[in-house]
Amino acid sequence: MSADRTCEIFVSPELDATWAVGTFAHECVHACVGVSHGHRAPFKKLALAIGLSGPMRATVPTAEFEAKIQEWIAVESAYRTRRSPQRHRPPSRVRGY
Ligand SMILES: [Zn+2]
Repeated sequence: MSADRTCEIFVSPELDATWAVGTFAHECVHACVGVSHGHRAPFKKLALAIGLSGPMRATVPTAEFEAKIQEWIAVESAYRTRRSPQRHRPPSRVRGY
């Protein structure tokens, strides 16, 4: 929590995408229920509801949540492929009209 009471969540860019989303989800649960609850009942209730499992201090996505994350990654990858610079390279010469 920042001095202005803004929740800031940082996720290591070194995590693979699935692990990063699971970590982000875990941290979002903290932000939603309030960090003062730690990993106790309010945290656990929301974490389980959104598809996190395992020990609450080290949650992991359930198989169902992980499948959904993989779907999101596939959609994002397809979007990035369509938007890649190679596919939108400007013409090698500009025609005058
Ligand atoms: Zn935690």
